[in-house]
Amino acid sequence: MYKIQCVKCSSEFTEKQTITRCLNCGQALDIQFDMKRLKKSVNEYVLHNTPLSALKYLNFYPIKNREKIISLNEGNTPLVFSEKLGEKYGIKKLYIKDEGKNPTGVFKDRGSLVEISKAMELGAKGIVVASTGNMAASVSAYSAKAGVPCYVLVPEGTPLGKLSQSLAYGGKVIKIRGTYADCVRLSEEMAIKYDYLLAGDYAFRGEGQKSIAYEIIEQLNWEVPDVVICPVGCGTNLYGIAKGFFEWFELGLIKTVPRIIGVQPEKADTLCSAFAAGEKEQRTIDFPKSLCGAVNIGTPLDDMKLLQIIRKSKGNFEMIDDTTVLTAQKNMATLSSVFTEPSGAIPIACLEKLLQQQKISSDETVVCIATGLGLKDPHSATILFPNLPAVDKSMEEITAFLNSGMLDMQSKKGDQNVLFSTPASIDEIRNIAEKEFSFDSTKNPDLFLALCEEVKFFFERRSEMKKSEFHLILEEVISDFHFQSEKILKIIDFSGTTSFSKKATACVKVEILGEYAESCAEGTGVVDAAISAIESLIKEKTNFSIQLKNYEVKVPSGGVDATVRVKMKFIDNNNNSVRVVGVSSDVVVASLLAYQKGFARLYDKK
Ligand SMILES: *Cc1c(COP(=O)(O)O)cnc(C)c1O
Ligand SMILES: [Zn+2]
Repeated sequence: MYKIQCVKCSSEFTEKQTITRCLNCGQALDIQFDMKRLKKSVNEYVLHNTPLSALKYLNFYPIKNREKIISLNEGNTPLVFSEKLGEKYGIKKLYIKDEGKNPTGVFKDRGSLVEISKAMELGAKGIVVASTGNMAASVSAYSAKAGVPCYVLVPEGTPLGKLSQSLAYGGKVIKIRGTYADCVRLSEEMAIKYDYLLAGDYAFRGEGQKSIAYEIIEQLNWEVPDVVICPVGCGTNLYGIAKGFFEWFELGLIKTVPRIIGVQPEKADTLCSAFAAGEKEQRTIDFPKSLCGAVNIGTPLDDMKLLQIIRKSKGNFEMIDDTTVLTAQKNMATLSSVFTEPSGAIPIACLEKLLQQQKISSDETVVCIATGLGLKDPHSATILFPNLPAVDKSMEEITAFLNSGMLDMQSKKGDQNVLFSTPASIDEIRNIAEKEFSFDSTKNPDLFLALCEEVKFFFERRSEMKKSEFHLILEEVISDFHFQSEKILKIIDFSGTTSFSKKATACVKVEILGEYAESCAEGTGVVDAAISAIESLIKEKTNFSIQLKNYEVKVPSGGVDATVRVKMKFIDNNNNSVRVVGVSSDVVVASLLAYQKGFARLYDKK
């Protein structure tokens, strides 16, 4: 029915010998069907007239025992015609294959269908898999259905969205202090040591990915697109997709094959430069650094297969930077209502570049694969947006918040461009706030005043301001305005004494989470003593503590409006930090106000 062959040295193996790597040279394996036999098993009428699902293509998978099939109803994901997004990027017929709609939110479920079914066929007693997160979630879910234990090795720092899925499906998660490549190496060792079946980016999984190609063809009414663009990590998915097209072409089910374009992030580009140089193998990267976690892979297993099949399709490789990817992620959601994780936005991010280089043209039918669901990595999805403050429950507060423009503000958090290289004037601040951050100073005179104060304060210590710094200040000013710290910590009163001969003492009366409390303490000064007293009360009433990291006092040189400004920076145990300002005519009061605000802000975040 099919044979298993090494892509490099052409050695052949049986399933009992290996289904993962070549036993001679360690390279990837490929499954090759007996096409004559396959052709006999295909019933075109049935193919054309049964509803879509990954299970309908069983004939095309290397599965022998159909009684052992483990399926969660994967496949039949939408092919979204994306008119508005296409307009934005200059493609008339743009489609998104939304693979986030699979059972665990990622295309990998198609591969898991074949791989875990095969594992059951081979009588696996346990499964082990290395993953950047999505593979772990998928394999855990299929193992749960199969009723076998599943061990997953993930690198430290794997997003919680993905990890929580694995844990929920009963996956036995082992977090490795290392890279994805370390996890792969260890999973291969574990499989041997404990006699588990090794799952992952191996040949049988790739066979399951073919159904993406089959579904695209059917969803386009048996027309073949001109181009298919897909992100590449290990290359297993895209190789499977390309193989699917070629197989149906060979079987005479379709008349052409699309050009296959693989895209990698700039910081994990193992194949793009190798492709351009005409090489057969990857250029490995030891520590890839892209924020597109699912494709942040430095040693893709399917490099040779993918390079070869992309050349055969007359396609291409391309790479793209992370910032462009995040913008594309947002555009896909707003213009096409497809919310994908950063890796899934890579093909759309690359369209502009591909058009410019004439690797695609605007009237071709282009299908982009959105590989996984956006919810899997909510942190990345919000990088471009400001931190939203909680607004008090009144209509006035909502109106004030809407007027602040924060909802329309595009985050400039990473923007290192210098905005001002001399202290900014009020007009300059107004201008930038309006143009760059859609902040309306006439609607928000109080906020604008506070903003100017903060910028002025900034320039007392620093000589230039970057865009990201301006962004943070504006965000803080708006948040501060809406934040009612008194509901968490309210310093009602204090008294203190100090002298040359003795330590200072202070007594405070506070309300913590609505509860009254008072205490006294000693310190090196009155401020210090008062804060010590408050800290002991906080410790008693909550389980939360913060640390003062930075303390600056600005005493004005005189004038009627003699206000002291105290600026403090705090951090909590989770490494959240906050900078706050207290303003009063008295330095102790200003300090306590800053403390009150700082504590409340961090408590609110916890
Ligand atoms: C696994 C994954 C990829 C990379 O696929 P490969 O088969 O490793 O090339 C891309 N995007 C998402 C969301 C993934 O989970
Ligand atoms: Zn070999």
